[in-house]
Amino acid sequence: MKREDNYRHKGLRKQLVQELRDLDLCNEKILAAIDKVPRHFFLDSTFEQFAYTNKAFPIASGQTISQPQTVALQTQLLLCKSGDKVLEIGTGSGYQCAVLCELGIKVHSIERQKELFNLTAPLLKKMGYNPALYYGDGYKGKEVYAPFKGIIVTCGAPKVPEALLKQLEVGGRLVIPIGASNSQRMLTYDKIGENEFTMKDHGDAAFVPMLEEKAR
Ligand code: SAH
Repeated sequence: MKREDNYRHKGLRKQLVQELRDLDLCNEKILAAIDKVPRHFFLDSTFEQFAYTNKAFPIASGQTISQPQTVALQTQLLLCKSGDKVLEIGTGSGYQCAVLCELGIKVHSIERQKELFNLTAPLLKKMGYNPALYYGDGYKGKEVYAPFKGIIVTCGAPKVPEALLKQLEVGGRLVIPIGASNSQRMLTYDKIGENEFTMKDHGDAAFVPMLEEKAR
């Protein structure tokens, strides 16, 4: 299927970026990355008209593409720059992953739904992004490529997975929504020593749940 990114999409994207700026999400590097990524490519073409509204939207396997505002916030909280190695849990549509790639971040991303993994991996490749994608369970992280400068969890976890804290480098940060299904707090954990962390709360979050154990 051929998708185009025309002047109308680009215009809508500029409006979305301004909307984010008005919400005080003002990291211009991140906004420039959001301005570059054609979000409508990550939605079924039937729903294209919703791509540039500041809303989450259903994708395959009963999951959602994160709200642009949330993508801007989590990316900002990650405090990572070009060249940093980052692990994402919950590839989903691949949109957050594409924004990180646009920033020059070396992304490793894990998805536990086989159907989504199979859809998203070829899409990102076709769009020219080159993240390392894995089908598996994010609770385990990706030990072989650890440590990571940043870890971003894009599903709501009932608790902080030990493996993720372990796989952060000292000086690195974990961004993770913690709480019950569909209602969490956005937390960051800064690793200040081998077994020492400082936690900060950045307000309410609403993600699909991070599911336990075996991949589907
Ligand atoms: N970053 C995505 C958000 C997708 S929603 C985007 O921008 O579109 C969250 C995703 O987390 C879903 O695709 C869900 O299948 C995935 N997920 C849930 N539990 C997981 C786990 N234990 N390991 C890896 N991915 C998981």
